[in-house]
Amino acid sequence: MIKLSKPNISESGIEAVCEILRSGDLVHGAASENFEAALCDYLKVKHALLVSSGTAALHLALLSLNIGKGDAVLAPDFTFPATFNAIRLTGATPVVVDVSPETYCIDPEQIEKIITAWAGPEKLKAILPVHEFGQVAPMREIQGIARENNLKIIEDAACALGAAALGKRAGSLGAIGCFSFHPRKTLTTGEGGAVVTDDPELANAVRELRNHGISKTSNGITFSGYGLNYRLTQFQAALGLSQLSNLDSWISKRRSLASLYRQALKGLEANGFLLCPADSNGHSWQTFMVVLDSRFDRDEVIRRMRERGIESNLGAQSQTWLSNPQDNIAAPIGHRLYRSGLALPFCESYGPETVDLVTSNLTEVLYES
Ligand SMILES: *Cc1c(COP(=O)(O)O)cnc(C)c1O
Repeated sequence: MIKLSKPNISESGIEAVCEILRSGDLVHGAASENFEAALCDYLKVKHALLVSSGTAALHLALLSLNIGKGDAVLAPDFTFPATFNAIRLTGATPVVVDVSPETYCIDPEQIEKIITAWAGPEKLKAILPVHEFGQVAPMREIQGIARENNLKIIEDAACALGAAALGKRAGSLGAIGCFSFHPRKTLTTGEGGAVVTDDPELANAVRELRNHGISKTSNGITFSGYGLNYRLTQFQAALGLSQLSNLDSWISKRRSLASLYRQALKGLEANGFLLCPADSNGHSWQTFMVVLDSRFDRDEVIRRMRERGIESNLGAQSQTWLSNPQDNIAAPIGHRLYRSGLALPFCESYGPETVDLVTSNLTEVLYES
């Protein structure tokens, strides 16, 4: 079976994990701080806080900005449900914004429409763009809208570590950025995530919130607020650190693979069978998702591909569709991407042979359908 993607764990990464296990120093420690420092350096941010998942990162980013009951947060329809779950967990109301059919990211025009028509009762507090599949959302426009309307920007860069735009890395383009290190992401610690920011107060809030509300004092620790346990283990941090120096070369391999796919799918695209994703200079290519023409039953295509030994999957979920399958008005593009998006096998260890095999089988499956 050709898997959708494979984590890239090196022998030296495994050895780094074993070393921590042998040391007995399992929770937050020097290796965790090394990984945090390396992330700051890589992303050019002042603070990076490791947490237990991308969802935890989103939850803490929202809490650090005091977002909760009575507040509303604008977020794209097409994303993994964790984005909306994190908003709901704070007591705030997520406001669905439709996405662009080319980038799959939040559409700034739709954000402006919603803000103009907004009548409450919740107070609009933040925009939460998702850098879907490694494509950075249109941040220049989003920054402008946020400034004009006094909104904070929280980046869901869960699947976009290493992506870039406007001369900066994804995650460093708003007030606070969130990452996931789940095995479906390019860099993985099994479960894991990080929150990054330049703001020392937000960083402090996240540091306390991830660790039972504990803060350091001159003679020890004190429980100064409320908090959760969203810590990452130190052996996971060691695993993450072992991969970070390879990330940029993995992303450039992924970039080449994406252009091979695009080339190989040209015929199907020209015949109106599917659309390829938009490219951009800073795309980090976590996933390669095509959009099938609406005449095809995407789930049937996934089954047929599986019979041929090739794993494929839907891309992400439409949040309006999940809450109300009858509702196809609020976010027609998000719905369409949810219904017809097809993620193809994609990771840095795949080459031209995989692209040939996948695209020739996909061509046969689509012509049979
Ligand atoms: C993966 C992902 C998450 C969730 O991350 P976990 O580490 O699985 O909690 C959230 N948002 C987006 C856009 C993701 O791709």
